[in-house]
Amino acid sequence: MPNRGRLFVISGPAGVGKSEIVKKVLERHPDVSLSVSCTTRQPRPGEIDGVSYHFVSDARFDALIGEDAFYEWAHVHQNRYGTLKSVVKKQLEEGRDLILEIDVQGCLQVMAQDATVKGIFVCPPSRENLEARLRKRGTESEASIRVRLNNVAKECATAYKYDYIIIHEDWAVRPDALEAAADEVYAIISASRRELESNRAFLDHLNESLKA
Ligand code: 5GP
Repeated sequence: MPNRGRLFVISGPAGVGKSEIVKKVLERHPDVSLSVSCTTRQPRPGEIDGVSYHFVSDARFDALIGEDAFYEWAHVHQNRYGTLKSVVKKQLEEGRDLILEIDVQGCLQVMAQDATVKGIFVCPPSRENLEARLRKRGTESEASIRVRLNNVAKECATAYKYDYIIIHEDWAVRPDALEAAADEVYAIISASRRELESNRAFLDHLNESLKA
């Protein structure tokens, strides 16, 4: 019987590079999984249904809410996004450590409903750096960039509620910034695997067998 998997929520302001960091963690560590969310937003060029997101209609999203299918869901930038309970349950029961890369509201919901969830907040080194990254991405309209920037201050103010803070340094200053941030995320996952609570079943078994 494998140990139950552990759940990690990662958030931070739009454009901070969360997705790239998570992608790097998954690339290097196949023992970690990422939950694929449902969203009502339109796919961007190159995004694949069922891989990037499950792209669903508003009606389908409403139906999923009605079925109580979401572990958490939130309105983000005029669209809705949600994590399916079925995905979380399956991965954790199979003993896989699972990352949810979700917005701040979603993270706060998840951390409030389960104290064992570890919250990781990714910060930019500065406001100027974040704004430059967001523009460089080139997938957003100017109006959408403005909406996102308006949310940044509110999002960073919630960082105190997380367990870990990672600063995604500027590539110009630190060329291996992405790898360094990914290593830090994996270090958190590794340390969590060694926590007493993650090993209680093993210890009980060991101690029982030593008594015999
Ligand atoms: P994007 O549209 O750029 O892919 O994502 C916009 C925001 O939605 C990001 O901050 C992303 O982390 C967040 N997001 C993605 N999936 C979920 C989800 O299942 N739940 C919540 N609450 N936020 C999500």
